[in-house]
Order: sequence, then C-alpha cells, then structure tokens
Amino acid sequence: MTDFDCDVLIAGGGPTGVTLAVLLARRGVKVIVAEKEADIYPLPRAAHIDHECLRILQEAGIVDEVMSGSRRASRYDFLNAKGDVLLRFRGSEQIGPGGWPIANMIHQPSVEAALRRSLSAFSNARLQGQWELKSFVDDGAGITAQIATTDGEREIRARYLVGADGARSPVREDSGIIFDDLNFEEPWLVVDVLVDDYSRLPTENLQICNPERPTTCVLMGEGRHRWEFMIKPGETAEQVSDDAFIEKLLEPWNVKGAVRMERKAVYTFRARIACQWRKGRVLLAKRRCAPDPALCRAGHVFGPA
Ligand SMILES: Cc1cc2nc3c(=O)[nH]c(=O)nc-3n(C[C@H](O)[C@H](O)[C@H](O)COP(=O)(O)OP(=O)(O)OC[C@H]3O[C@@H](n4cnc5c(N)ncnc54)[C@H](O)[C@@H]3O)c2cc1C
Repeated sequence: MTDFDCDVLIAGGGPTGVTLAVLLARRGVKVIVAEKEADIYPLPRAAHIDHECLRILQEAGIVDEVMSGSRRASRYDFLNAKGDVLLRFRGSEQIGPGGWPIANMIHQPSVEAALRRSLSAFSNARLQGQWELKSFVDDGAGITAQIATTDGEREIRARYLVGADGARSPVREDSGIIFDDLNFEEPWLVVDVLVDDYSRLPTENLQICNPERPTTCVLMGEGRHRWEFMIKPGETAEQVSDDAFIEKLLEPWNVKGAVRMERKAVYTFRARIACQWRKGRVLLAKRRCAPDPALCRAGHVFGPA
C-alpha cells in the first residue's frame, strides 16, 4: 500500500503532540493529530517551563502569548521547618542560554489553547478531537492505524506514528517498549487556587522541607497559585482531599479570603524513562523532566522532548 493519508500520525493532542505537529507542519510535513478527548483538559497541570521550552514555543509561534500569561518568582527557596534557608536559587527572570527567562510559571490549558490556534493556521496539519487510536500495524513501509471516531472506526495510513499519548502511553505499551523505573513514587495532594489578593501570597517559589509535611508552594500563570502537600503513610487520598483537611493545611499560610480553590487532586509523581524512543516506524514523544526524580518533582519542569 503506498497511499498515505499523512506523513506523520501523532496519537495525543496534549502539549507535546501539538507542539510537535506545529514544528513538523512548519517544515512542510503532512500531519494528523488524533486526540481521544473532545477538548483541552481545562484545569491547571504543569506549572513551570524553562528557557529551552520557551525557545521551542517561540518556533511554534506562541512565545509572546505564553510570556504575557506567565509569571516569574522572585527566587526559589528550600526552607527547613523553622524557616531557615537551606538552598536558594535566584534569577529566574534572567535570560538563560535558550534566550528566554530561566524559569516561567504557566497555566497549561492556556499554553495548549495557544498551540492549537497556531496549528490551525497550517493547511497541511489537522487535529481531530474524539479520535482514539485503538491499534496499529507497522509493515515496514508505513503504519496502518485503526481509529475510533464519533462516526465509527476508520483506518489511517501514515509513514510514521508518534506516540505523544502521555505518561501511560498505549503506543509505548503496544510497541513493546518497556521503561526504566527509577523507583520514585510519591502521592501528593495538589491544591490549585484562583487568587483574589496577591498581597497575601509569597512572591517566591518555596519548598518547605519539613519532615512533618513536606510542602511545595509555587506561583502559577496569571491569577493562580499552587500548593502541594506530601501525603503521609497511613493517610488516604479521600482523607486529604476533604475540604476541611485542606483548610487546615492552608491555615499557616493565612490566605483565607485571598484565594478560592479551583481544584484539588492527588497526583502520584513517578520517575520512569522509556528505554527506547523509536521502534521501526513508531516513535515516542514525551515531556522532558529534570534528571533527578526529586528535582523533577520539586522543579516542575516540563517540555516537549
Ligand atoms: C494534578 C496534576 C498536576 C501536575 N503538575 C505538573 C507539574 O507541576 N509539572 C509538570 O511538569 N507536570 C505536571 N503534571 C503533568 C503534566 O500535565 C504533563 O507533564 C503534561 O500534560 C504532559 O504533556 P503530554 O502532551 O506529553 O501528555 P498529556 O498532556 O498527558 O497528553 C496526552 C494526550 O494523549 C491523549 N491520548 C492518550 N491515549 C490516546 C489514544 N489512544 N488516542 C488518542 N489520544 C490519546 C490524551 O487524551 C491526552 O490528551 C501534572 C498533572 C496533573 C494531573
């Protein structure tokens, strides 16, 4: 079979898949992005992007939009339980080797919306919502993929398939690519808030290294802030997600009346790296994280690999 519907079929229309689609489309490559959900996930997830990631987003044509909605912390402090500084990073607003500020706090859905707008300008690329990749065959000359759509199942023939399908990655699994597990697995409670009064919030990013309850407090994109609390052994997701429990956790921060909760979620941080990034005509594209799992969790670094 030599007739191709596209050069590259990308499974997954998250930030990685859509960024890749824009970069390929700019180079004249015919791309289809198959995304199983109808819309962008509307709640905040990744909090931070670095100068290298901004450089990629610059090429994707959205850097001004991302910069206008992002914020930079005055510094990044690791404090002990008494509030003594253990470690201090300054200069997140300074320009890094990528040509953009070193550390930028963002609102992921806004970045994704900007990426999708950028992609829509290319006639050689399209994103199909409610298209779920069900299976695929690599015959050496191309990929034949079965996609479930709202109009029933359809077949797409592509020269290459890219799995930009998130952490669980059915494409990785179906390709038989295993991952190297660095054995880091910690469930944390993530609390995102909308800010009514910034004067009551820290201007720096904080890691509170208190063994009683390790806590992260970071800026997000414009209008938002985030806390993350380590869930202690014996505590359940249900217990820590209770509003009264969260109110107690936030008490020392004295932000009652200054913020409104947007979302609470138990998020398990893991450190796993695919052992292989290409198998035949199948490639994986995943977010990049800091090399050390603890730094990765604390650093909130994400960017298309
Ligand atoms: C509560 C929470 C907090 C987080 N905080 C941070 C943080 O602080 N820092 C950080 O770096 N990251 C954080 N993350 C993770 C962050 O969301 C990811 O880094 C980012 O979304 C990865 O982008 P991606 O495009 O690679 O994958 P995803 O955003 O997961 O996108 C993958 C897409 O593939 C689609 N898909 C999957 N299977 C198929 C299929 N078979 N067919 C078609 N489509 C498919 C999915 O619907 C999804 O839209 C957080 C996540 C959550 C839930």
